[in-house]
Amino acid sequence: MHNKTTAIHGGNITPSATGDVTPAISLSTTFYRDENGGYPGGHMYSRVSNPNRTALETILAKLEKGTEACAFSSGNTAGMAAFQALAPGSHIIAPDDMYWGFKKQLLSIFEGILEIDFIDLTKPELVSPAIKSNTVMIWTETPSNPLLKITDLTAISKIAKSHQLILACDNTFASPCFQNPIFQGADLVMHSTTKYIGGHSDVLGGVLITAGPSAYWDKIRNIQQIGGAVPSPFDCFLLLRSLKTLHYRMKGHAENALLFAQYLEAHPLIEKVYYPGLPSHPQYEVAVKQMTGFSGMLSVLVKGDGENAKKVVNKVHLFAQATSLGGVESLIEHRASVEGPDTKTPQNLIRISIGLEDVNDLIADFEQALR
Ligand SMILES: *Cc1c(COP(=O)(O)O)cnc(C)c1O
Repeated sequence: MHNKTTAIHGGNITPSATGDVTPAISLSTTFYRDENGGYPGGHMYSRVSNPNRTALETILAKLEKGTEACAFSSGNTAGMAAFQALAPGSHIIAPDDMYWGFKKQLLSIFEGILEIDFIDLTKPELVSPAIKSNTVMIWTETPSNPLLKITDLTAISKIAKSHQLILACDNTFASPCFQNPIFQGADLVMHSTTKYIGGHSDVLGGVLITAGPSAYWDKIRNIQQIGGAVPSPFDCFLLLRSLKTLHYRMKGHAENALLFAQYLEAHPLIEKVYYPGLPSHPQYEVAVKQMTGFSGMLSVLVKGDGENAKKVVNKVHLFAQATSLGGVESLIEHRASVEGPDTKTPQNLIRISIGLEDVNDLIADFEQALR
């Protein structure tokens, strides 16, 4: 099946006794056993598995070209499971421009448990010298948050393979429509399903997808089922509903974002635009090689200082001033003030999640705010 079909039919939920075309939300926490002690419905207890979650995991594994997926109650718990499954004392190479919440997890929750080096992964030549005897994982994020840096996954994968390291990729910004890191050699793919996969800013979730079976993956499954940070059946239902339109939404986000980025790039009050779909992006060639679309996220430096950037954010009407991304409504934020005093994000940076409104309205609104 092609991805658009998988997104609609890939969950393999068996028709219910009442013949629902849309699978019901299965709220039962526990499931009947038969006389032999088996579970004829395939489920025992809903922390371990549930029909809605199984359908969600099945589709996400297929869309990312992996063999299995573990769904979690948030992107953060998905990432945390990937880190928890590593042996204490392990060393991880992570990107310098990394989703802020993961950086915070690694430096606080995993302080004294895991060793981390943050490296500019747009320069693959910096990776080999950073590998130590206890290095077990290279964690990538491409495009990255908030600078939209692109990591050459094929180049990093060669290094990971030659040192037998796990290559993980946070694929949240690209979505499974525009990038499948397993094709470039990733062992593990992570998404915050809160973002594009959910797409409507109304459900929190995360997922890990494995390229194949491994002892590491068994540990992740154990953390999911025994740790229990699982999404509710209703969360899974919402995500399954969202997946059906994912490909059409992503097409709209990407079209709008490119036009918006081109408008900004030509603007005299704009210092710099970060969008991987612009030929001026420093890793444009890599982006073209490994992505089939450039998604709807962009960051921009407005001329002047941080106060100027905050003014723009306060003067737009159509963009909701709120954190997060990937919803049908455009969102805007002054990223440095979200990340706090220890951030390295430039003070005049605005991060924008381009929604599915008419792009002409978005441009007109941003224009009046800039003026
Ligand atoms: C939002 C986000 C996360 C964390 O996901 P939550 O669902 O908010 O816990 C991780 N990585 C990236 C790139 C994100 O944008």
